[in-house]
Amino acid sequence: MFISQLSQPVDRIKGVGVEISKDLESLGIRNISALLKNYPIKWEDRLNLSPISSSIQKGYVYTIAKVIEHSSFGYGRSKTIKILIQDDTGYLSLVCFGRNFLANKLIVGSSIYIYGTNISYKFSELQCSTFEFEDYIANESPKKFGKILPIYRLSGKLTQNHLRKFISIALKQYINEIYNELPDYIIKSESLIDKNQAINQIHFPTNFDALEIAKKTLIFEELFHLQIITVRKSIEHSKYFKSEKDLPRKLQERLINKLPFDLTLDQKKVVDEVLFDLNSKKIMNRLIQGDVGSGKTLVAFLSAIPVIEGGGQVALMAPTELLAKQHSENAYKLLNSIGIRTAFISGNIKSSSRNILLKQLEEGNIDFIIGTHALFTNDVLYKKLELVIVDEQHRFGVEQRLSLKNKGNNPDLLLMTATPIPRTLTMTFFGDLDISTIKTMPVGRKEIETHLARIGNEEKVYNFVFNELGKGRQVYFVYPLIEQSDKIDLKDAESMYHHLQHIFKGYNVGLIHSKIPDDDKVNIMESFSNGIIDILVATSVVEVGVDVPNATVMVIEHAERFGLSALHQLRGRVGRGSHQSYCFLVYSNLLTDEGKKRLLTMKDTNDGFKIATEDLKLRGPGDIAGVKQSGFMKLSIANLSRDLKILERARSYAQDLLLKDPGLLDYEHRFLRELYTNHPPFSPNYISLG
Ligand code: ADP
Ligand code: MG
Repeated sequence: MFISQLSQPVDRIKGVGVEISKDLESLGIRNISALLKNYPIKWEDRLNLSPISSSIQKGYVYTIAKVIEHSSFGYGRSKTIKILIQDDTGYLSLVCFGRNFLANKLIVGSSIYIYGTNISYKFSELQCSTFEFEDYIANESPKKFGKILPIYRLSGKLTQNHLRKFISIALKQYINEIYNELPDYIIKSESLIDKNQAINQIHFPTNFDALEIAKKTLIFEELFHLQIITVRKSIEHSKYFKSEKDLPRKLQERLINKLPFDLTLDQKKVVDEVLFDLNSKKIMNRLIQGDVGSGKTLVAFLSAIPVIEGGGQVALMAPTELLAKQHSENAYKLLNSIGIRTAFISGNIKSSSRNILLKQLEEGNIDFIIGTHALFTNDVLYKKLELVIVDEQHRFGVEQRLSLKNKGNNPDLLLMTATPIPRTLTMTFFGDLDISTIKTMPVGRKEIETHLARIGNEEKVYNFVFNELGKGRQVYFVYPLIEQSDKIDLKDAESMYHHLQHIFKGYNVGLIHSKIPDDDKVNIMESFSNGIIDILVATSVVEVGVDVPNATVMVIEHAERFGLSALHQLRGRVGRGSHQSYCFLVYSNLLTDEGKKRLLTMKDTNDGFKIATEDLKLRGPGDIAGVKQSGFMKLSIANLSRDLKILERARSYAQDLLLKDPGLLDYEHRFLRELYTNHPPFSPNYISLG
């Protein structure tokens, strides 16, 4: 049977009662299968000795040592015993906080196995305050030592010993006849091991080499399943065709000629790539990657024009109302004069005007509709939706993208993002996605200067801001909170809005955040855009897409509270015109290591690709690809940013396999067929043998 068929409840295991069942359940463990798939988060090396002399450097000690002497410090109830031990390489003091009874167990002159962490050099001696030990008896093997010990996530009253015991019982009772999910030929050619062994070794490895192979086997298997699913989807997708076309480009040309600037080389290249796809039989599935400010919106508009000139409709979806509105205004400005009828739809329009709008859309009197996810509510119908454009696509869930696509008869799909992700990942999440990259920035752009400032030094930043305001430029101030909180001591947008009005007397200060009604938001943005507001105090609502080229300073206070991609996006609000622009990251004293890393990365580079790579390392890819919400990806051992190499290999096997044997009918795929038919891995929606 397959491991996922071990559906017996955990309380079948000796020692698991009601209380423990609850604790296990809060770790997501209800049955034997889940218990066995609850892999360790790390392993403690109690196999290879790590002597006292290297303990500081390694952060732990594992050795056989002799107890030398007892001493103590503190008086009365705070008296604490210290036990000095020695191995071949040096001395170590075991500090027995709250464990003075150990004096009776660690007798001077005896020998012990000891494993300790929390090693530090204090009071001119090496100390260790967290340790486990066992008497050393010559010619007898120790109980808790001499092996690699698994460490699990815990919950409630559970201990490591509990989990080790339950899992080892489960392994003995249930695991001897588990099927391999990978075909034998893959196991062989990739030097992997049987599923039985892999499960045994991942929990209780005999040595570190065996552990590595067990890990690799389980990771490979998981990614292989993932790839079978995605490759299947893309095979499905490639079965649909549209008719070949030769779309007119007259209007597109007319707009290009009217622009006050030239397109960048990459913009031209991408517009051509898109047109090629639009004309071809294959349904377009293309992602445009381009750093913030590289001019993706214009490329989207230029892509829409030939479709419209050819008689089709285009929908553009943006993640926020603010951004959708801005796009729709730009679209109107650029496209109305060449005869294209644009419209804006949001969740907030009155039903009377909404009904008119929907009717116009359905009758084909609107060519280009722009909006938020309101674009795909049930009552929105199109006459001839041929192209769907999704801006800042990583902000949407998989389902949201799909539901808009389903509005047309297999419309072409164009996704845009400023957050590049590795190719293997995009393949995993979006099937066969073609990628266009915009690398060149519009001419005249200057690199944004980024400065870090510790809290308390805002004065300097404010002076700088005065200077820029004096030159007629505009400024953003961004805060992590909307309003004051009694839970955390952070500056908030509302209070700072009042404060900054005092500081920058004579200048117009505006406030924008998600709690402000949508209509007001739009008005405020418009005033900022038109230069009526000089200083915009905001939260991360201005993170995506907002385009005001005259703004040259971005001040982010409590910058350590923002993620890397958010910081990069926020910084991208300036440097959008020809003026030199600046970003000030004001940070508080309470910096974590990761926070520090983020800020330094921001200072070091303006390159969105580098920042995305760093972000991927710090956060993991689920977030970035926008699939986190979908529940589709619940990986138990693979890590998509770490395991890209394995992912690639798994993908190539999956492709070969499905090409040769799409129905999984071959004898060597009998287990796979059974698995996918009756016990599908991951969400069942994604797999059906049809
Ligand atoms: P993003 O890629 O971040 O979505 P936008 O599409 O918002 O970038 O473009 C940023 C700004 O650059 C806009 O003001 C836009 O009008 C301008 N822009 C776009 N293409 C060019 C170009 N080829 N030359 C000069 N400015 C351009
Ligand atoms: Mg944009």
